[in-house]
Amino acid sequence: MNRWNQVDPLMLYQGENVLRTLLNGGHQAFFVGGCVRDELMGQPVHDLDIATSAKPDEIIGLFERTVPTGIQHGTITVLMGKHAYEVTTFRKESEYADHRHPLSVEFVDAITEDLRRRDFTMNAIARELDGTLTDPFDGQSDIQRRILRCVGVAEERFDEDALRMMRAVRFASTFGFRPVKSLWAALLAGRGKLSYIATERVRVELEKIVLGPDPLRGLALLQRSGLLQYAKAAQLPVKEGADAESNLREPVDDKLTILVRRLLHRSPSRPEWLKMLPLLPTAPAGLRWSLLLQGLEISGEEVSGLLKNWTFPNQIADETAAIVRFDEAWGATRAELLEEQDLRRKWIHLQIEFGREIANWWLQRQAILLQGSVYGEMVQQRETERMSLAMKWHQEVSIHKLPELAVSGRDVLAISSRPGGPWLGELMKRLLLHVALGELPNERRPILEFVESVVREDGDKRSD
Ligand code: ATP
Ligand code: MG
Repeated sequence: MNRWNQVDPLMLYQGENVLRTLLNGGHQAFFVGGCVRDELMGQPVHDLDIATSAKPDEIIGLFERTVPTGIQHGTITVLMGKHAYEVTTFRKESEYADHRHPLSVEFVDAITEDLRRRDFTMNAIARELDGTLTDPFDGQSDIQRRILRCVGVAEERFDEDALRMMRAVRFASTFGFRPVKSLWAALLAGRGKLSYIATERVRVELEKIVLGPDPLRGLALLQRSGLLQYAKAAQLPVKEGADAESNLREPVDDKLTILVRRLLHRSPSRPEWLKMLPLLPTAPAGLRWSLLLQGLEISGEEVSGLLKNWTFPNQIADETAAIVRFDEAWGATRAELLEEQDLRRKWIHLQIEFGREIANWWLQRQAILLQGSVYGEMVQQRETERMSLAMKWHQEVSIHKLPELAVSGRDVLAISSRPGGPWLGELMKRLLLHVALGELPNERRPILEFVESVVREDGDKRSD
């Protein structure tokens, strides 16, 4: 079996060249980890990682373009064309500090020794150039039976590196694997140690769960394990001089814990529409995050701060918040009995306030929610009608920003014989809305005539 079916051909071609160069240099070399696992599972392979007996300086000597990405741990990135390969010297890790990183790494001679340090059996399989597999922990059989199992004793492995617990939940969720009893017991016993892991690394796993193929399974596992409440982001900051263990144990009642608490305690009563989470596209990420957070009854005002505290990139935090706030603002019109033209005004107002893109993402999200019939029958019908109108209005709006207007603030100032002030900004926004609503063409003459009439009216009012 020497065919890869799940790898981009160019990436494979050059990856095999990297392997060959190492072999020709007199070293051992294997593809290893996620790529071997994904190929065995028939899942797309994203990158090819390589393990070798060559030492870092020998790796550097063999290739033209290298980056010493993790040289102290034995990892060198080899660049080939537009692809990058992480080449790591066989190693074992001894003694871990703070449940998160090895105190020292020691290079070893054999691939089986290297595989022993890896987290799960399915991630501990190596593959040679000719397709031969080295699989000392029966990873293949676990993959076949869809079982998640640690290499070695689960308790020890989670104690060494507490992030592995989050990875366990992630893999169980994204692959639909069942954790073996001993793994789950070790996770329940060791979950408190997640507090040693940097928020950013926990967040990365959380993202892979929520943006993965079965987010609800991952969320259910998080809920059942209670793991997330021990995340750093849900803890009090460690007080100077205080005993770190006791300080970190109890979740506190501040904004950071909102997501966690609701995940743990509220999801059983989550609205129907949370079930639509897996049907939403994964890009932009805000589509899924907005639905999840709203499903946990987190308001638009809270969203951005909460996600930023969890170290999400600003863009994701802001886009997610905008989708939630858009939904809240548009949703508020449900309770009012508005004529169609007033509804249209409201929509276009919002589309200008939030921008075309956010409105479009909201429409995408709404279309999927409607497919799932998540509303009661009557609301479903009304929402479907409102949705068709909104889609039409979304298309109609031809202008979203002041610079797109045919006149500038300076033009308006010039014909109004008033000193500049806040009124100017207000008037410009009004012009934008008029044009967007189709009440004024986006042309200089008619817009300036409109400005003149407004200025005249204002002048009359002031002289009254
Ligand atoms: P993916 O890239 O799809 O998220 P992956 O398994 O490739 O999954 P990486 O983080 O890229 O995950 O790690 C590559 C390999 O390194 C893993 O397959 C595993 O063998 C090993 N590994 C990664 N993180 C750990 C860890 N915390 N403890 C032990 N081994 C790990
Ligand atoms: Mg990987």
